[in-house]
Amino acid sequence: CGIFGITGHPEASNLAYLGLHALQHRGQESAGIVASDGEHLRSHRSMGLVADIFTAPVLEKLPGEASIGHVRYSTAGVSQLKNAQPLSVEYAGGQLAIAHNGNLVNAPELRKALEADGAIFQSDSDTEVIIHFIARSKQPTFENKVVEALSKVKGAYSLLFLTQNQLVAVRDPYGFRPLVLGRLRNAYVLASETTALDLIEAEYIRELEPGEMVVIDEKGLRTSQPFAPTRLGRCIFEHVYFAKPDSVLFGTSVYETRKELGRQLAREQPAPGADLVIAVPDSGVPAAIGFSQASGIPYDVGLIRSHYVGRTFIEPQQSIRHFGVKLKLSAVRQVLKGKRVVVVDDSIVRGTTSRKIVKMLKAAGAVEVHLRISSPPTSWPCYYGIDTPSRQELIASNHTTEEIARYVTADTLGYLSLEGLGKAVGDTERNTFCTACFSGKYLAGQVSPEVAAQSA
Ligand code: 5GP
Ligand code: SF4
Ligand code: MG
Repeated sequence: CGIFGITGHPEASNLAYLGLHALQHRGQESAGIVASDGEHLRSHRSMGLVADIFTAPVLEKLPGEASIGHVRYSTAGVSQLKNAQPLSVEYAGGQLAIAHNGNLVNAPELRKALEADGAIFQSDSDTEVIIHFIARSKQPTFENKVVEALSKVKGAYSLLFLTQNQLVAVRDPYGFRPLVLGRLRNAYVLASETTALDLIEAEYIRELEPGEMVVIDEKGLRTSQPFAPTRLGRCIFEHVYFAKPDSVLFGTSVYETRKELGRQLAREQPAPGADLVIAVPDSGVPAAIGFSQASGIPYDVGLIRSHYVGRTFIEPQQSIRHFGVKLKLSAVRQVLKGKRVVVVDDSIVRGTTSRKIVKMLKAAGAVEVHLRISSPPTSWPCYYGIDTPSRQELIASNHTTEEIARYVTADTLGYLSLEGLGKAVGDTERNTFCTACFSGKYLAGQVSPEVAAQSA
């Protein structure tokens, strides 16, 4: 998911619209904005894309100098309007809206306990437990209520809270999901990625620290570190695939990192004798360029991506996902005919896309197809906010690289090593990133899909 917040700007909801537009790659199922005019919170949430939902008349009904927004794709809870965010409620302390990127691993237990105690939930989303804990908190201030609520949850959260007169931003102590702070004249801006700041011409100040809480109200901005520090677990997959390449993420350029992943991949898994390197667009492009640079094999464009199809994997239905590949990519015969081709992609999840791509390249005349992947085998599901399927569906969890190569019909298949991945992101000790989907080492615990399903 993607989150955006701004306070101190007369056009807060218009800017949230722009910011969410820049973050659309982080979620395409639903979008929402909640704005505060100092007295009332007004909200609009809908299924679909930001540009379709937020027409001028809709935005006019969201007046005020502060707003938060959210783009969602489902990692916890099904794809339905009731799960769209920001969630907003009215409780004894006033009006409150919350936008969450990440996933709480202990939400099912917490929800069960709250329900046993009489709580009524409006959504399936893991985020709602936070609202219940805030509403029940006896702490004197809103910030203290937030801290108390968050001390009960485990997992990944980059959060924005909006009340009538405060904007609060929190990042979990592992720092799984990104969150950056910026400034636009007198306004403060918070966003999942710097690309949203760039779009609205806000100045990038810094990333929120893992475990940091920032409160912005009429007294200005103040910051604290209310949680016990832990080792860092920044999501390495944000660099591999999820974030937009023009963003600066965890202090480094996503584009540069992806190119370096490709260079490292070329060193580890060369493809001697190949005629050209192509990318699976868009996500494979920077790594393919890096592969070409390090190997000296020329880069060319052998696959064209339709601009009218979104990220296929975000479609939750298998039938749509299946159909999506051909709609999305087409092969350039003139580039591929008679060639030994290296094709670079960022990851293999189920293997179905890769298989279709290899077949498409061969049908277009490629004589050899050498598939290179700029991350290690994805063998473990993510419980921290990226929508990977269950373990059984991850092809690398129960197949060797040779078996996968055979399934996708590639002449050779090579993955980047975990060490190489760490090196490329500048984490040689491999202790500041989460790598659980590649390594199986879950830092913040995990919730079984069965338990997660019961809570939904
Ligand atoms: P596959 O061959 O596994 O069907 O699809 C691989 C493609 O899915 C790659 O191009 C990759 O960009 C994309 N992808 C990347 N991350 C994810 C993810 O988290 N979930 C899914 N389902 N697909 C992803
Ligand atoms: Fe990111 Fe993978 Fe960790 Fe999930 S498991 S937070 S996708 S690195
Ligand atoms: Mg891709």
